Amino acid sequence: MNIQHAAATEPGFRDSVNLMVERAIDLLDLPEGLSENIHTCNSTYCVRFGVRLRGKVHTFTGYRAVHSDHMEPVKGGIRYAMNVDQDEVEALAALMTYKCALVEAPFGGSKGGLAIDPTEWSEDELEKITRRFAYELTKRDLINPSQNVPAPDMGTGEREMAWIADEFRRMNTTDINARACVTGKPLYAGGIAGRVEATGRGVQYAIREFFRHKEDVQSANLDGELEGKRIIVQGLGNVGYHAAKFLSQEDGAKIIAVIERGGAVSNPDGVDIDALKAHLTETGDVRGFKGGKFQSKGAALLTAECDILIPAAMESAITLKNADDVQAKLIVEAANGPVTAKANEILNDRGCVIIPDLYANAGGVTVSYFEWVKNISHIRFGRMQRRQEETRQSELMAEIEAMTNRKFGDMFRQNYKNGSKEIDLVRSGLDDTMRCSYECMRTVWRENEQCPDLRTAAYIVALQRVAQTYSSLNL
Ligand code: NAD
Repeated sequence: MNIQHAAATEPGFRDSVNLMVERAIDLLDLPEGLSENIHTCNSTYCVRFGVRLRGKVHTFTGYRAVHSDHMEPVKGGIRYAMNVDQDEVEALAALMTYKCALVEAPFGGSKGGLAIDPTEWSEDELEKITRRFAYELTKRDLINPSQNVPAPDMGTGEREMAWIADEFRRMNTTDINARACVTGKPLYAGGIAGRVEATGRGVQYAIREFFRHKEDVQSANLDGELEGKRIIVQGLGNVGYHAAKFLSQEDGAKIIAVIERGGAVSNPDGVDIDALKAHLTETGDVRGFKGGKFQSKGAALLTAECDILIPAAMESAITLKNADDVQAKLIVEAANGPVTAKANEILNDRGCVIIPDLYANAGGVTVSYFEWVKNISHIRFGRMQRRQEETRQSELMAEIEAMTNRKFGDMFRQNYKNGSKEIDLVRSGLDDTMRCSYECMRTVWRENEQCPDLRTAAYIVALQRVAQTYSSLNL
């Protein structure tokens, strides 16, 4: 570590997010007092509740923070992890406010968490705990289709969201929009096609969009296309797995290492992501996987040689301790807050480009937005127009073939004929969101000489939008 950097102190996650926001606020000319108002977390509810399990009462601590309700409902995931605390949920809720503004999802920012290690409890026990937590939050309208809509995050997924939705429905039997009280549900419980993989898919679309801008690729001292780029991924959970899978299987990138809790697996020819995921699911560890070299000190690979580093596990993976040694030219923050504010400064000085969390992992909330719209409109996307599109397109092809006396190829015929299914529309909407948001962010980065990086640009875009909404509020 550089001696000067060794002397600097590392801010906590929440201070780190604050520092990043303040950097953007300094470049904006917001009315006096407004920036502080936007900046401040509106409220945090902490609940301690008991559940009778294994013959005794266990007490759990949960949180739901509302950072900004300038738009309602507020939106943000619920995380299950032992280190969940007030500071963490407030930092994550703030990120949600700015993320929603950046990708134009019409929500304020919120986040929740339960201090629990989900691996310590059976499925039945987790269901009891989740339902009780949902009951506590619902009682205070901290789960509500028009006020506060949770989603999955670290340690939670479709299963937990289905329990939450059902608990809400039981407490609100006449609410016709009850299913919209939470997103990330399984399809059978009112979910939407493509939500499970949405965050990873969004990471893929974000990287594709970055590679469409040659000037940006050069800024990262990279060249050429995404195909063949060497990528290291930290965390093979929901986000990391899907991002790694799509980038390797659809874009020809090479995942040369995967870092997990118990160590890392590397393979210069590319790790088979599906095989590694299957091994991890089966054994709970990446150790013993045949398709690569295992090393127990996995975090060391965060600084290994590669083109792109995708931290997709948790916050503060790249800090003052290791930022000097990071060799990746591009960091894509699939996790929330994986690069601390101080590490960000070091990486900026070294010319490493960072695609920031509030953009890179916004695919989840974007598709959650689509799911919420689907739930309040009570109809699957594509249901009304799909067959009509099919008929029209078939007729058009038949007419052209008759006029030209030539036949379309089978592949073209099949692709062109198909009307849009829900999954097609979700992908299209997500791709459009990721492209438009990148464009807004990079325009500020390129045109504002004082804007040092994409992160500050993202915050500038988001803050301007939030400030605009505030200007018409009766404060
Ligand atoms: P997850 O629980 O599905 O996966 C996290 C993975 O990281 C697990 O496989 C875990 O073993 C691994 N991990 C944990 N600590 C690690 C460590 N120290 N080193 C290496 N690996 C470690 O969680 P997720 O939903 O994939 O979320 C990951 C990150 O993405 C979080 O920061 C979350 O806030 C963010 N995020 C998630 C979503 C979503 O839709 N799930 C949306 C936006 C952002």
